[in-house]
Amino acid sequence: MRIAIAGLLHETNTFADGLTDYAAFEHKGAFPGLLKDQEILQTLRGVAMCTGGYIAVAEKSGMELAPLIWTFAQPSGTVRHAAYTRLSTELLDKLRRALPVDGVLLDLHGAMVTDQCEDVEGDLLQQVRSLVGPRVPVIANLDLHANITARMAHAATTLIGYDTYPHVDYTERGAEAANLMAAILKGAVNPVVAYRQVDLLIGPPRQCTLQGPMADAFRLVHELERQAGIISITLAGGFPFADIRDAGVAVVVTAHADAALAQRTADKLADYLWSRRHDFRVPLTPVREAIDYALRTKRGPVVLADGSDNPGGGAPCDGTVMLAELVQANVPSAVVAIIVDPEAVAQAHRAGAGHQATLVIGGKTDTRHGSPLTLTGDVRWVGEKDFVNKGPMMTGMRVRMGRAAVFVVNHVEIILTENSFQPFDCEALRCLGIEPRERLLIGLKSAVHFRADYQPIAAKIFDLDTPGIHFPNLFKCPYRRLRRPIYPLDEIPANHGPIRS
Ligand SMILES: [Zn+2]
Repeated sequence: MRIAIAGLLHETNTFADGLTDYAAFEHKGAFPGLLKDQEILQTLRGVAMCTGGYIAVAEKSGMELAPLIWTFAQPSGTVRHAAYTRLSTELLDKLRRALPVDGVLLDLHGAMVTDQCEDVEGDLLQQVRSLVGPRVPVIANLDLHANITARMAHAATTLIGYDTYPHVDYTERGAEAANLMAAILKGAVNPVVAYRQVDLLIGPPRQCTLQGPMADAFRLVHELERQAGIISITLAGGFPFADIRDAGVAVVVTAHADAALAQRTADKLADYLWSRRHDFRVPLTPVREAIDYALRTKRGPVVLADGSDNPGGGAPCDGTVMLAELVQANVPSAVVAIIVDPEAVAQAHRAGAGHQATLVIGGKTDTRHGSPLTLTGDVRWVGEKDFVNKGPMMTGMRVRMGRAAVFVVNHVEIILTENSFQPFDCEALRCLGIEPRERLLIGLKSAVHFRADYQPIAAKIFDLDTPGIHFPNLFKCPYRRLRRPIYPLDEIPANHGPIRS
């Protein structure tokens, strides 16, 4: 059994400034850059990503893998179409050379957009399908934030989405796809797929599967998955910061040789999500209120989630609104992770560790995340740093901060970095000698992923009401291409069902 594997992952925030180039896919930062051939197996073996799951299943079961390319660019603005076509050409050329293969496993995100194509994964799946023909199974893993289209669902044999946010099931979902591939090739299952879209947008904090309506929805998913004849159910919360027709919630049900069962099950789940739509509204807390809570209770760590500036959703990660409030509040102990600002890092390096300096920090990418702050404080540390994730998410993945600095102003430790990454793993602090359990306040540029590692140690978590292009209430997003009406942006007629085919 010979299976081609490839990965092409990007979550495109179409509201971000600038275009994402090919170089972003080659860049070694939070992710390992553009991997080719055996490099994929060497780098991702044992790493908590879907491809790590493919490798684990293959090595256990004797499945032969033909690795093509794998790349995961840090989420950012619209991808330049030429960058996508260069990557897809490399992938398809390698696939052509690898033929004949018995199946194809694709590690995709599902929310990639170029300046010429709203549905990149649909396009890629169709090209892979036309190359291998109608009989070869093609299974794609998708992020929980995929904006799944009918084209994607129809081009693939099936789609397997993550069941968790924070995404702590990459390896499991990859293994599920690889095991399903083996079952199909042995003739044990005959998958048929039903796809349903729901006219619902959900801000990231309410897509968290640890609590609230999304936890309830996944309980239903797992209950429905236990029905005889159901192979797998994908519920995608969608990525609302992509101004495309098909952004939002979608459901894919895979059943064994029973299209009617797949359809009924997809309808049931779509109806449920629609019935809970009011519960998906996102409650946010003003920064000052969250700081006052920490000062009053004196019990830490109180985590401030600055999700509006989450680099894991394409935001610049140099927003200053939360930082300004922390510096002004004269708190006894706080850390802010991270501010991506190569200029400020260079200033800190010039000043040197142990020296006082005045730095101009953040607010440099655009005008939507606060103004640059001129702050005088102490440079505690400068250097270049890598760390390996030790928490439950993307465990084992090496993250390169690049050049970095710890700058301390009024008891606020500011972690300044050259590279952009979402600081969801406690190692981002610990590798710099900062123990998160010992801080009263921790300001994180993360919407939800941080909860995997921080929720067990946090005294309290607040989703902040800060400005930015990842602002979870969605009413401020200047949508032009999104299908309408859609909840919660529009008044929805009472007779409007959940389903759009
Ligand atoms: Zn995601």
